[in-house]
Amino acid sequence: MLKVGITGGIGSGKSTISKIFELLGIPVFYADDHAKKVMTEDPILMDAIKSTFGNEAYFDDGSLNRKYIAHIVFNDANQLAKLNAIVHPATFRAFDIWAAQIKTPSYILKEAALLFESNAHLMCDKTIMVYAPLQMRISRVIARDGITKAEVESRNSKQFDDELKLKMADYVINNDDTELVIPKILALHEHFLTLAQAQ
Ligand code: ADP
Repeated sequence: MLKVGITGGIGSGKSTISKIFELLGIPVFYADDHAKKVMTEDPILMDAIKSTFGNEAYFDDGSLNRKYIAHIVFNDANQLAKLNAIVHPATFRAFDIWAAQIKTPSYILKEAALLFESNAHLMCDKTIMVYAPLQMRISRVIARDGITKAEVESRNSKQFDDELKLKMADYVINNDDTELVIPKILALHEHFLTLAQAQ
């Protein structure tokens, strides 16, 4: 089964575009949602988080103390790197379990904000970068999440630069009103079906 990774900067539209692939019948793994889930469901990861950040990382009912973790990792790049280093392998495990349950012979999509940063692209056959310029992405995220420009910029700074991701990706979807997105998605869909059949 062909595995296609899809990424893009915050607000680029990668989730919106992934939903269109889903409408075409393609299963999509949303890595960021799964990363949140494994933090309260994967016992290996939960033990690693407690031993790295302390037992205060979880409440007595087993739920994650998100404020405590956020306070630690968003004020210290080393701590964020430590958290990523333990969460990413757990998300990879979740992806493998999810992918193993899919019986369709075509392709699947892995949507991840940190596809290249986490090396998840190495486990994909092809990669797509969804591109939109930073100013456009900032306006979209302010409208979507109601957060400030500074917060969007801070989250954006934790991702690779667009230039690097554009170089690393096999395909680019320009979601910045410079080209029609749906025909591009349909063309890629046909292309991936052909590649999957040849596998
Ligand atoms: P990402 O998953 O990359 O952070 P989203 O798919 O959530 O981005 O898109 C960010 C916001 O921008 C959402 O509110 C979405 O509806 C909107 N959006 C996405 N693509 C476009 C577009 N081509 N034109 C206008 N708004 C868009």
